Parts: sequence; C-alpha cells; structure tokens
Amino acid sequence: MTDLSPPPLRNDCFALPAGVNWTPVDEALALLRDRLTPVTAAEDVAIGDALGRVLARDVVALRSNPPQANSAVDGYGFSGAVPEGAHVLPLMQGRAAAGVPYAGAVPAGTALRVLTGAALPKGVDTVILEEDVNANDGQIAFRGPLKQGANARKAGEDVVAGDVALTAGRVLTPADLALLSATGVARVHVRKPLRVAVISTGDELVDPGQPAGEGQIFDANRPMLLSMVRRFGAETIDMGRVADDRAALRAALDSAAAQADVILTSGGASAGDEDHVSAVLTEAGAMQEWRIAVKPGRPLALGMWQGRPVFGLPGNPVAAMVCTLVFARPAMALLAGAGWNEPQGFLLPAAFEKRKKPGRREYLRGRIRDGKVEAFKSEGSGRISGLSWAEGLIEIEDGARQIQPGDPVRFIPFTSYGL
Ligand code: AMP
Ligand code: MG
Repeated sequence: MTDLSPPPLRNDCFALPAGVNWTPVDEALALLRDRLTPVTAAEDVAIGDALGRVLARDVVALRSNPPQANSAVDGYGFSGAVPEGAHVLPLMQGRAAAGVPYAGAVPAGTALRVLTGAALPKGVDTVILEEDVNANDGQIAFRGPLKQGANARKAGEDVVAGDVALTAGRVLTPADLALLSATGVARVHVRKPLRVAVISTGDELVDPGQPAGEGQIFDANRPMLLSMVRRFGAETIDMGRVADDRAALRAALDSAAAQADVILTSGGASAGDEDHVSAVLTEAGAMQEWRIAVKPGRPLALGMWQGRPVFGLPGNPVAAMVCTLVFARPAMALLAGAGWNEPQGFLLPAAFEKRKKPGRREYLRGRIRDGKVEAFKSEGSGRISGLSWAEGLIEIEDGARQIQPGDPVRFIPFTSYGL
C-alpha cells in the first residue's frame, strides 16, 4: 500500500467572510470545521502500538464475537427449554471447557458438564448454573423453568464477522483495542500523529531555571502548550523562545514549518508595535486576524507559513489556554484526521453569582465541589494559579446572563478537552 498524503491546505483557508467584525465563537468554529481537512499520512501499526492513534479507514471485523455459541456460566448444558417442576437428566461422560471443546454430540434429553467460555457442543443450546443442580456420576437433578438459550451466548451476538467494528476517524481507546483483538484484527491502518511545533515569543521571557532580571518573566506558555498538545495525542516539537524580532521569528517559523504539520505560537498576536507574529504572517500574505467575540482572548492570528497552518495565540497564559482548548484543539483534531468533536459539558448548579453583558461568550475557570460549580475568584487573564486551581471551564453563552447561585451553568471538565 502506498503512503498517500492528503493535499495541502489552501492558503486562504482562514479567510473570514467580508464585512465580519467580531465573529461569534460558533461561527469561528464552523469556519474552522468547514475549511480544514486532514493533513496526516497513514501507516500500518500493530494494535499494541495503536492506543490514541486515529483510524485512517473503517475496520471490518475479521471474526465474529463470540466466534461460536458458548456457555456464560459453569454448569450443565442440554437442548431446549425446560418447563416448571423437577427434572432429572442423564449426564454424558466428559465435559466442554474453554479452549477444549467436546468432540461428540449431546443427544436430546441428556446433559453435559460445561464450563464458562466453552463452545457449546452439538445438541446443546441451554445451560443451567451448577449452583442450581444436584449432580452425581450419572445424572443431574434441577428445577425448571428455564428458557431455551439461558446462560448461553449466541455466535456473533456482539459483532458479526464482516461488520464495521470501528469507523475511520476514531481515536483508539483501550476498549477499542479489546474489540479489535476479539474480532481478529491484529494491525490497523492509522494516521501518523500530527506534528505540532510550539514557539513562545517575547523579549521579556526567560526559561524557568534561568536567572530572571527586572522586567523579565518566566515562559509559562511553552511548557503548558507542549503538554496540552501531547495530551491531545499529537507529537510536539519544542521550538523554544524567540525574541520580539522579525528575522528571528521568520527563521523560527521556517524551521518549524520544515518539521511540523501545525505551528502554535504564543504572544505577539495582536496589532501592536511589538506584535511580530501577526506582522510576519501578514508579510507572508496569508494572515487573518480573527477577532472572536470571546473572553478571555485577544485576536487570534491565523495564517499559513510555507503551507503550514499557524495558530497565533494570545500571550496571556489564561487566554492562551482557553483559545487552545476552544479553537486550536478541535482544529488540530480535524487536521489529525479525527474529525470534528465537541467537548462534553454538563449543566450543573452554580455556586457563584455573575452578571454578564451580551456580545461575547465567556469562559471562566471552574471546578465542581459538592455537586455545584465554583468559579475562580478572579477573572484576570494573567492569573495562572486559577488555571491550576480549575478542573474545567464554565462556558457562559453569548447573550446577557444574570447568574444566581443555584442557576444552571455549563461546566466542561478539562478531561472533556482531552487534558
Ligand atoms: P502579548 O500577547 O505578547 O502582548 O503578551 C500578553 C501578555 O502575556 C504579556 O503580559 C506577556 O508578558 C505575557 N506573556 C506572553 N508570552 C508569555 C509566556 N510565554 N509566558 C507567560 N506570559 C507570557
Ligand atoms: Mg509579546
């Protein structure tokens, strides 16, 4: 099989419709969903290496599960339903056990010892639990009624050979690996992991562990973004920090584009003097400033650099994280071939009060305690401790809201985002 790569994305894939000013979150997401397509090639891997990988095509069950009718319990097998009342059946010599079938047939009106998982021999379709039986060498005695097929599993009752067991785009879970194994599939055609380069920008940044002078701060975004991307199942390429210098930034983007499918930058994404990410993407002619009606989040700079999509995230760690979860994560899932997926949220009573004006969607840092959603005490987008305190985001719809304690609010756990 040839390793076919999908066609590259179009340079105008991030273009906004003319006349748009502040784009509502749902419209921004719909645009990403419409415009982006998978960019990863496919390969064959053994299922032992397939956890978290994205299926490149549907997988058909090679074998039924169960492959043959078998016993669900330890007991005695015979044919047919048994009416109410006491019954005595002659017991055949021998037994059927898992992996050790009974070679002969069981004549009508006789019983055979069967163990859990044993293929049902010819003549057996019903099993009685051993706890419900008195047995000696030659006979068993028990009470009915018992339905035909009791305590037995039918061939293919779970999956039939030839059925589609899992569909393309599925991100393989531990349970999926069990299903694939059970249906005889040892290797799968999966997409190569998306390769994501992460760059921090800003003259003020130093790495943790380095001496930090006055006016300098530690780079908090890069460790956060790299680890988020890893949790999303992608491969990361740590491009380090770049100063607020256009030549250095162009060089970093060149290097990132040569190694990665997608580039995430943080900082310098607005339209200010020192906002060099948006400036160099504009020079490249494929930059779009997405002014999304969302809080937190300054403009997102979306562009293409040498055919690679670039997500220019805000520098504020809180905004960088929220924008990554809300916009970059689903976009990267699409690029990785996993299709579009929405994070699962839960309506729960608020433990806080908040008044919100219409016009922007808001994400607060939240967590659940005693069945209620608590919000972090401050909405300041530089408050990294709040990200760490939180266990998810509270999503407050675009319109006006006056939230009182006890009112339902939508809580989206970080785990729903794959973190
Ligand atoms: P910018 O988007 O570059 O204007 O940055 C907005 C704010 O985020 C500024 O206060 C920056 O110092 C801060 N910031 C930018 N990048 C990072 C980073 N990697 N880690 C922590 N804070 C950052
Ligand atoms: Mg900056």
